Amino acid sequence: MKNNSKTLKGIAAAPGFAIAKAYLFAKEKEDVSCASIENVDEAIHNLNEAIEKSKKELNKIFSLAIDKLGDKRAAIFEAQIMILDDPILIGNIHQRIKEEKKHPEFIVHDEITKYQNMMNASTEAYMKERSQDIEDIKLRIIRNLKKKKWRSKITSEVIVVTTTLTPADTVLFAKESVKGYITDFGGLTSHAAIVARSLDIPAVVGVKDSTNNIQNGDTIIVDGFNGVVIVNPDESQIENYQNKIIQLAEYDEQLAELRDVDAVTSDGRRINLMANLDITDEIETIIQNGAEGIGLVRTEQLFHENDQFPDEESQYIFYKELAERLYPRKVTIRAFDVGGDKVLPFDVKEPNPFLGWRGIRFLLDNTQLFKMQIRAVLRANIHKNINFMIPMVSDITEIDKTKKIIAECNDELDKEGIQFDRYLKLGIMVEVPSVAVMSAEFSDCVDFVSIGTNDLIQYLLAVDRGNEIVSAQYQEFHPAVVRTIHHIIQNTNCDDDDISMCGEMAADIVAIPLLVGLGLKSLSVSASAIPNIKKIIKSLNYSEAKKVAEQCLKLKTADEVCAVMHKYSHEKLTDQLQNII
Ligand code: PEP
Ligand code: MG
Repeated sequence: MKNNSKTLKGIAAAPGFAIAKAYLFAKEKEDVSCASIENVDEAIHNLNEAIEKSKKELNKIFSLAIDKLGDKRAAIFEAQIMILDDPILIGNIHQRIKEEKKHPEFIVHDEITKYQNMMNASTEAYMKERSQDIEDIKLRIIRNLKKKKWRSKITSEVIVVTTTLTPADTVLFAKESVKGYITDFGGLTSHAAIVARSLDIPAVVGVKDSTNNIQNGDTIIVDGFNGVVIVNPDESQIENYQNKIIQLAEYDEQLAELRDVDAVTSDGRRINLMANLDITDEIETIIQNGAEGIGLVRTEQLFHENDQFPDEESQYIFYKELAERLYPRKVTIRAFDVGGDKVLPFDVKEPNPFLGWRGIRFLLDNTQLFKMQIRAVLRANIHKNINFMIPMVSDITEIDKTKKIIAECNDELDKEGIQFDRYLKLGIMVEVPSVAVMSAEFSDCVDFVSIGTNDLIQYLLAVDRGNEIVSAQYQEFHPAVVRTIHHIIQNTNCDDDDISMCGEMAADIVAIPLLVGLGLKSLSVSASAIPNIKKIIKSLNYSEAKKVAEQCLKLKTADEVCAVMHKYSHEKLTDQLQNII
């Protein structure tokens, strides 16, 4: 039999192996299907749900827009909501679906385009301008209809193959028994890759031509350890990977025994090993894997998972449950870090989103939303084990403004007679070089800091973290990165335990001896990575690691640092995983 197996290479983004059929997800295509339908009732039901969902999204955007843009400009969104309530328009769409028995997305597109054409033909300039708003509504409803469509298509376990993935896509797919991800574009620390690691779903990103080389229904092997994708593997390849899957499961079982053991080096230095919480239902895995707390809750995930910002009450319930489940361990809740490669609630097109309206910048411009989150955190901190952290800080005044807003929230809750904790610890992410350079001054203003290498590396080396074209330049072992981390640890005026790292570098087995050697005592990583890292730390000698770190601080190229660290790992650490992968 002819062997038509093909091997594609990409970036190993989330570890693990998977074998399943391919599902090609072509989200870029905005074309609408004009196929006939059989079940009219179901089509109308789907349409009504998509309209309701669109209304909900617009209502949320409307209230946010009032805060940021003022009543006048926010009125655009109010007008859009009114169109969705127009009984003539919606009635026509229903009527046509019943009569023509065509896909609702086609009828929506056709009917709303007619509406737009009418407006464009108007002699009034105002009417012409409003035609663009109608385009937004049309796309919003169609997008919501499509989401329903692809969800219903994933009926068995598949490997999703697509051009790019957003963190929101990654979470949505995971709810539909997806076994692996392959993308044409994307980098190791893109948020979609991070979420895939949290979900423990193997992923290979930046495979360039995956969507051209893979057909729907092809059998695929995803090797998320080595960044390899095998399309239509032969029997021996399948057998080889089935064996690896079994060995990996056995190794995971062995690691489970370390759950209640501390992460202490062979010469007695204790490392506080915490987890990053990237998706809301990860709490059990975090506890099961023996995390000593949560070093980073990416709360923007609440927004991605629900397509809208959660209100104060639902945030309060979520944070309170989280803190209670983890007590007495600490939980560090990070304020919403939207922007960058994580979507914003407004349809804002920025030329450089990673340098734009992101993290604390967005929150300080949207105080209504920021306050909702702060109030929820203050109220949830009943057991005093919650810390609050702000992302994308670049200027000390941002900390001052945040403190002022927290004080306002304290006053409001006092006046309202609502129970809360007034002594919330405040920390910052160290992600922007300005903060690293001035770590002494910045840390004087807060209780703790967490080094976010994912962004720190991209801003320090001017390399987009999500762009596979420059992934070779995204070097965590660049001497400038190593020296910056050293500078931060040396100059931060906080207790050693209050200087942690929550970027992906903290989970890199080869980098861990360097980080520990540089003096870090606290690491926060994906929950799934904790057991193996614990094992590595236990086989590590702190005095030796210190010497290796000192050696690395004198080197001039990333290749040199990388070579030293790989040699050290190879000679000194017991990493059984290497034998399996
Ligand atoms: C980081 O930048 O290292 C970090 C942990 O934050 P995020 O990956 O969410 O940007
Ligand atoms: Mg970051």
